[in-house]
Amino acid sequence: MQPGKEKIFMKNGQLCEDIRDYKDRWKDANVIEFIQEPGQIVFVPSMWHHQVHNIEDAISINHNVINACNVDLIIELMRTRLVDVYREIEDVRSILSCEEFEEKCQLILNADIRINFSLFQRFLNMVIDERAIDAVKCWVCAQHTCIFECKKDDRCIERIRSCLKKSCKCDKHTALCENCDIFVKSFELTCAIHAKFLLDSDKYR
Ligand SMILES: [Zn+2]
Ligand SMILES: [Zn+2]
Ligand SMILES: [Zn+2]
Ligand SMILES: [Zn+2]
Repeated sequence: MQPGKEKIFMKNGQLCEDIRDYKDRWKDANVIEFIQEPGQIVFVPSMWHHQVHNIEDAISINHNVINACNVDLIIELMRTRLVDVYREIEDVRSILSCEEFEEKCQLILNADIRINFSLFQRFLNMVIDERAIDAVKCWVCAQHTCIFECKKDDRCIERIRSCLKKSCKCDKHTALCENCDIFVKSFELTCAIHAKFLLDSDKYR
């Protein structure tokens, strides 16, 4: 279900274990229900609450993805978890040099969430290198200097949507038309550049 809709299934700040027990609330929450058939992949967008119920024996293979839509959330996650790591190994800080301590923390962060600042930096550089071609221009907003602010503004989202609609020439034979392809690339480039900027500002804090 869409982000926030899970509140409908909460009681005392606790999410109910099985939403099938509350079918009467499904309509309010716009719950999407489906059966995943053999050979099918399910893409769950960031922050969409989901429940999986195996109706027969099954093996689940999951991958988490970073894309332009959740890159800012990943930075937030890395920041909070790094603070946890700092706190957790605070007692050895005095026997290590500053660099050593930082290095150890990054190592633990990677073991914890499978990403750390340097890996993330490399990933962003790769995205920027690949997307920064002539046809691809950064998305510019008159109101916000940061694309992650636009994400929180309904008018900005509507502006992006209508801009995309106007130029779209997609048909059912092509996955993505030329204009949409360029749009996606510029959106990804913009988000990657802003994410890099956020990371750099962390480094020189
Ligand atoms: Zn899941
Ligand atoms: Zn920014
Ligand atoms: Zn904006
Ligand atoms: Zn299109």
